[in-house]
Amino acid sequence: MSVLEIRDLQVSVRLPDGEAHPILFGVNLTIRSGETHAIMGPNGSGKSTLAYSIAGHPKYEVTGGSVTLDGEDVLSMSVDERARAGLFLAMQYPVEVPGVSVANFLRTSKTALDGEAPKLRTWAGELKGAMERLGMDPAFAQRNVNDGFSGGEKKRHEIVQLELLKPAIAVLDETDSGLDIDALKVVSQGINRVRETGETGLLLITHYTRILRYVKPDFVHVFVAGKIAEEGGPELAERLEEEGYERYQVGAGTAA
Ligand code: ADP
Ligand code: MG
Ligand code: MG
Repeated sequence: MSVLEIRDLQVSVRLPDGEAHPILFGVNLTIRSGETHAIMGPNGSGKSTLAYSIAGHPKYEVTGGSVTLDGEDVLSMSVDERARAGLFLAMQYPVEVPGVSVANFLRTSKTALDGEAPKLRTWAGELKGAMERLGMDPAFAQRNVNDGFSGGEKKRHEIVQLELLKPAIAVLDETDSGLDIDALKVVSQGINRVRETGETGLLLITHYTRILRYVKPDFVHVFVAGKIAEEGGPELAERLEEEGYERYQVGAGTAA
């Protein structure tokens, strides 16, 4: 059992002119392995900033609060220490890695996480199975990571990683955006398989409610203007579907 605890997290981004621009204003969130959380919120509310801050992106400067994984201080870890500790981030815009094949990337990642290379024969089968389940042609294993991948192919590849690397806590940033309905189903099924292992805590960040029709969150957090404005169960996602974010934004504009 792992637990990620985010306490009063405050984050600024350093702008090119050197100014610090505050984005997160005190975020509190606890995610345990086996739980599925959804963060929903309007564009520009800081959802990706939260994801990057957890992962350790150097552009985002933590100015207050704490993030711990099983009591260990995540914020003092390097990006690869965070990954080895069990954190996984599927980025909203996955980056291309020219010159590194999917097969190599996954095997290298797995080796780094486990401290030893996976057994060749079982690994080949696992990789093939994971790709098949995500509807990815085996030929993708030899292609360079995300190089010329369509939006949907990038997202499928993220879920292949998730299934193979089995992180303690996974943050999926808008994994549903840009997916057609078939790809959304396949990707959601992958997320549900990971969920059903009970070993991973999932944080699904999304702007739309549609992925939550396929992956039922245990907890929903509404994110507005850099903090959590409301929390509830799956029924909250349904209400957002009908009402949108407007009432929170009006509130955010008038509140102190
Ligand atoms: P969301 O993912 O909810 O759409 P983001 O975290 O991407 O929101 O952005 C939150 C706010 O922070 C936005 O106003 C955005 O312009 C700003 N921001 C995020 N990253 C940067 C950056 N690297 N440089 C400047 N501003 C940024
Ligand atoms: Mg956005
Ligand atoms: Mg975002």
